[in-house]
Amino acid sequence: MTETNPTLADILAARRVLRGVADATPMVPSPHLSKAAGQDFFLKLENMQPIGAFKLRGALNAVMALPADTPGVTCCSTGNHGRGVAYAARERGMRAVICMSALVPQAKIDGVRALGAEVRICGQSQDDALAESQRLVKAEGLVEISPFDDPRVIAGQGTIGLEMMEARPDLSTILVPLSGGGLAAGVALAAKAINPAVHVIGITMDRGAAMHASIAAGHPVEVEEVPSLADSLGGGIGLKNRLSFPICARLLDDTILVTEEEIYHAMQVLFYEDRIVAEGACVVGIAALLAGKLPPLAGPVATIITGRNLDMAMFHRIMAGEDITLGAVTVKGRRYGP
Ligand SMILES: *Cc1c(COP(=O)(O)O)cnc(C)c1O
Repeated sequence: MTETNPTLADILAARRVLRGVADATPMVPSPHLSKAAGQDFFLKLENMQPIGAFKLRGALNAVMALPADTPGVTCCSTGNHGRGVAYAARERGMRAVICMSALVPQAKIDGVRALGAEVRICGQSQDDALAESQRLVKAEGLVEISPFDDPRVIAGQGTIGLEMMEARPDLSTILVPLSGGGLAAGVALAAKAINPAVHVIGITMDRGAAMHASIAAGHPVEVEEVPSLADSLGGGIGLKNRLSFPICARLLDDTILVTEEEIYHAMQVLFYEDRIVAEGACVVGIAALLAGKLPPLAGPVATIITGRNLDMAMFHRIMAGEDITLGAVTVKGRRYGP
């Protein structure tokens, strides 16, 4: 493992670490989305992981590598990484302190607590949560596990790309929900090591798209963090980003932005057509397809259903077609149907 760039060998090693805890998930075809895409369209079901999200892979790979006398682990999180770290720490009998901002939905906070981790709510942004996590490293000797800028986390998430290419070696395009870029970096490393011609496209919401803005600028930049239906995609990439930014800048073929209305509609499509309950963060690839924002597709395409840890009251309201208020903006509701 180099500190600069995880390799296919690191991703294969991660798969052995994960075995029995975060196992391979199914990749299933979506008839409705295949019709919309004009190509076979697959869904990689990471919502079926034990914590309801893919982040268990990276967290487990990082926590399992720590020495047994580690006093504990800490992280900042929009919810799912904290759940992954909490689960991994419990596997090892280690203390875990998860720092989250007040923007994180209650369902995600409850999920972390239910795994026996301590929770600190700090400030209004991922940066505030990160500051508390870094204070705990100095004050209590805990080890910080970055949600995305860590070679073992990236290698862990990369096992998803490995499984996707093994299931369908003919994939032409992989649509990856994009936030800090640990998932996109790992998936792109794995997929392109297997087939350099496969296209990997990062997709995120148009409000607070930190990686998209950073790639455009050529260096990590800060963006304002605002509430979104894709709350798991919130937060910056870190001005001192070492790994996920350069890997995404080098390996992503494109980044695409979608609106809150497009996310809202895609959540309805995934539920009513494929009967899958998923977070707003998962459907950004589907939203881009349905909004006609994808480049021409040359063959089978797949996206990753990254997690299912959403507020169910909010989910019911979206499925019923009600308006959703997110801070200063209202997403206009629309009933699903022809
Ligand atoms: C963390 C997360 C993402 C994005 O992963 P990054 O590695 O931060 O880009 C996407 N979807 C869900 C559900 C997540 O929890």
